[in-house]
Amino acid sequence: MNTNTVLKQEMYIDGKWIVKDESIGVFDKFSQEKIADVPIANKEDVDLAVQSAKDALKKEFSPYKRYLVLKKAAELLLERKEEFASILAREVGKPIRESRGEVERAAQTLGISAEEAKRIHGEGVPVEAAPGSENRMAFTVKVPVGVVAAITPFNVPLNLVCHKIGPGLAAGNSMIVKPAELTPLCALKLAKLFEEAGLPKGRLHVLTGHGPDLGKWLLENSDVNMFTFTGSPRVGEYIRERAGLRKVTLELGNNSATIVHRDANIEKAAQLVTQKSFNNAGQVCISVQRVYVHEEVYEEFLEKVMIHTKELKLGNPLDEATDIGPMIRLSDAERVESWVQEAVEQGAKIELGGERQGAFYEPTILSNVSPSMKVCRQEVFGPVVSIVPYRDFEDAIEWVNDSDYGLQAGLFTNDLSLAMKAAKSIEVGGLIVNDASAYRVDHMPYGGVKKSGTGKEGPKYAIEEMTEERIVVLNL
Ligand code: NAD
Repeated sequence: MNTNTVLKQEMYIDGKWIVKDESIGVFDKFSQEKIADVPIANKEDVDLAVQSAKDALKKEFSPYKRYLVLKKAAELLLERKEEFASILAREVGKPIRESRGEVERAAQTLGISAEEAKRIHGEGVPVEAAPGSENRMAFTVKVPVGVVAAITPFNVPLNLVCHKIGPGLAAGNSMIVKPAELTPLCALKLAKLFEEAGLPKGRLHVLTGHGPDLGKWLLENSDVNMFTFTGSPRVGEYIRERAGLRKVTLELGNNSATIVHRDANIEKAAQLVTQKSFNNAGQVCISVQRVYVHEEVYEEFLEKVMIHTKELKLGNPLDEATDIGPMIRLSDAERVESWVQEAVEQGAKIELGGERQGAFYEPTILSNVSPSMKVCRQEVFGPVVSIVPYRDFEDAIEWVNDSDYGLQAGLFTNDLSLAMKAAKSIEVGGLIVNDASAYRVDHMPYGGVKKSGTGKEGPKYAIEEMTEERIVVLNL
């Protein structure tokens, strides 16, 4: 993308690329330069997309064709890795090496979805086992839910869109994507790529504009059969309340915890915790926010995390050497700064970092925190990690569970019985042993409990959410 050109972007509805007079500017999060204007969709645009999506369902799109389109899209995405990565680096402020990683993972997500398209199946049901049903047989089939609205957040705007489009199309649905206002460019470019991959008209729409308006109009349209949302608990709850009897999948926030037990490989734990606390400037839903460390290894662990954190380089996301870019908005960096200041006033100690320059917030390590502080209790969604010593393993588990959230947790230990104890008692969607909370590969089931949401992603599991099971009974 030419750094001096403001692109007048089009949105994708009913197989057409549409411009509007009204638009929202998209900015390079490092230079603050405007890089594109995206259209603001209105209610008519929403209704047109929904009608087109509904009509498309009537046209044949076999599982094998879905496989071919998704596979082609995955290949095209890898071919254009650099283009997508530089858009991510600019619209999110995500370091270029991390951005390339997101493109590679997005291609994985589409490739896995392609494979899954070929193995969506029901099962035989032994109705003949019931008295009076001896002459009957039955089986189930998985049918698409229909028109699915997919609303996505700013922080992973390519792979999280693929986590909805991939399984949604694989399952035979029509998808209407509403990307985040701050980072809509990858989703639009992805729609172009699907067009090139041969996706039939009407199966995918990308609407840009204001979240609250588009959300309201999509919710009001009864031809939308399902909502799949990734974002904040506040908006997730809003959608759940208004979706009525329709299906809803919610992938929401977390204040992820990781336990480091005394028998762990402390160097390995320190490296992984550092990396997974500060990736994407901590703007990751499973970013490590709270670390509970056995008191015998606390000092050693803290020292090692500080050594690794000092090596991280803040800078222009397009620079190969950069580890941490700016936060998405100045106001988010200011919010993180105020939470850290408040924690310090309440007795926390800044071991490292704690300074803000514009939208950059230094990777920050806190100690002496208490559970009621915002930096522990709420989702920081910034580069701040708190490190807390424990004596009893049971206490550490209890502190992990003392949270409104429950997406994933990490545990470093080589003691199998402790790992099993944690697996049984930690209240999360996923426990990662000998890694930090922020481990994910794209085919695993992913989703939380409590305020972290309902329903799973990962193509195989998302397809379960995005299909209905229909029973067919044969009276022979
Ligand atoms: P957000 O909730 O502010 O926005 C998410 C999306 O919702 C955007 O597209 C936005 O335009 C739209 N939106 C806003 N108001 C709406 C409304 N009234 N109706 C319908 N849509 C509306 O979230 P964000 O700031 O973009 O993302 C950060 C949050 O996302 C964090 O809480 C993070 O933990 C969460 N997240 C979760 C996962 C996961 O898989 N669990 C992954 C990434 C991010």
